[in-house]
Amino acid sequence: YTQDVGSNIQLSQLRISKTDNPRTPPPAKNLVFGQTFTDHMLSVAWTSAKGWEAPHIHPYGPLSIDPSCTVFHYAQTSFEGLKAYRDENGKVTLFRPDMNMSRLNRSAARIALPNFDGDAVVELIKKLVALDAHWIPQLKGHSLYIRPTIIGTQRALGVAPPNAALLFVICSPVGPYYKGGFKPVSLLATSEYVRAGPGGTGGYKLGANYAPCVVPQVQAAKSGYDQNLWLLGEDHRLTEVGTMNLFVALKHENGGVELVTPPLEDVILPGITRDSILSLARGHASGAQPISTLPSKLIVSERHITMKEVKAAAESNRLLEVFGAGTAAVVCSVKNIGYNGEDIAVPTGPDGLGPITKSILDEITGRQLGIIPSDWSVEV
Ligand code: PMP
Repeated sequence: YTQDVGSNIQLSQLRISKTDNPRTPPPAKNLVFGQTFTDHMLSVAWTSAKGWEAPHIHPYGPLSIDPSCTVFHYAQTSFEGLKAYRDENGKVTLFRPDMNMSRLNRSAARIALPNFDGDAVVELIKKLVALDAHWIPQLKGHSLYIRPTIIGTQRALGVAPPNAALLFVICSPVGPYYKGGFKPVSLLATSEYVRAGPGGTGGYKLGANYAPCVVPQVQAAKSGYDQNLWLLGEDHRLTEVGTMNLFVALKHENGGVELVTPPLEDVILPGITRDSILSLARGHASGAQPISTLPSKLIVSERHITMKEVKAAAESNRLLEVFGAGTAAVVCSVKNIGYNGEDIAVPTGPDGLGPITKSILDEITGRQLGIIPSDWSVEV
C-alpha cells in the first residue's frame, strides 16, 4: 500500500515570510545539543484531496494541531537528522542530503504517510539553511543540525492512512560532539529488551522506534554504562549501539583485518554514516581508492556477529576496535561491553580512538568539511 500523493512539492511556489524579531544566536560555548533553534523553519502541508501544498519558510514557532490528530495517538511520525557544515572559507555544505530524503520517503511509506519529491525538499532545506546560516557557529567542529520530520495530521481517531500530513524542518546549532577530547563509551549488552525484531520497523526511522528505548537507556546508565548494545536472538547477535550503527574490527590468523557491520535486513537502520564507511572501506579494500591509514589487508563484511565471537576475539587478543557510527558523532569508540555480569575490554588507542576508527573519522570529516573533495558534499 502507498498513499496516492497527488500534486508534488513545487519549489517555484515557495513563500518566505521572514521573522520581524530576529534573535541573537547564543554564544557557541553554551550550546547544548538540540536545545536551541534558529529563527526560521520550513513547512509543507499535504492533503489527500489536494496533494502537496505550497512550501512555506516562516518564523520558528509552535504548530497549531488538533488534539485528535493521528500523530499524537498512533505515532504517525518519521524524522531525519543531517548537518550543515561551514568550512574555513565560510562555504556552507550538506553531507549526502539525498540519502536522508530517500530514507525519509522509505520511512514515510512504511507508516502510510505520503511520499514527496526528495530533490525539491533538499532545495528547500538549502534555502532555509542559507537564510539562517549565521546561526552556524564559526568555531571548529560546530555545525547546524537539521531535523526534517513528517507527521500524520488527520483530525480523527482511528488507525488508518491519514488524509492529511505535514512535513516540517527545524534547525539547531550544535557544538562538537567531543568537547574535551574523545571519550570512548561503555556499552551494556542488552537482550531483555529488543530495539527491533524481524519483520518489525527497525530499518525505518520512525518515532515509534525511539520511545521504547528510553527506559533501557536509563537503566543502562543506572548500571554505570553509557549506552545499550542491542542484541537479538538466542545467539545474541549484535545489532546497533544506542542510536548508532555498529562496527567491529577483528584481527585474523593470517594477519588481515576484518571490519564487520551487521547486515541491514530489517533490524538495522540504514545509516548514512554506515553507508559512507562501507563505501570508503570497500574502496580501500579493492585497491580502487586506497586510504594510507587503513590496514593494507582489509576485509569488509556485512555479516552477523555474536557476543560469543566478540568474547572469543577479546580473549585471544583479536578484538581490535569497536565503534558506533552516526551523524551526531560520526564515530564513537567503545571501551568495554558489559555482558552476563562481566566486562569485555575493548582496545581504544592512546587518544581514545583506535587507528581504524581514527582513519574513518578523518576520511569522513575531511569530506564533510571540504578538506577532501567529494561529491558527497553539497553546497547550500
Ligand atoms: N541507528 C539508529 C537507530 C539511529 O537513530 C541512527 C541515527 N539516525 C543511526 C543508526 C545512524 O544513522 P546516520 O548515520 O544516518 O545518522
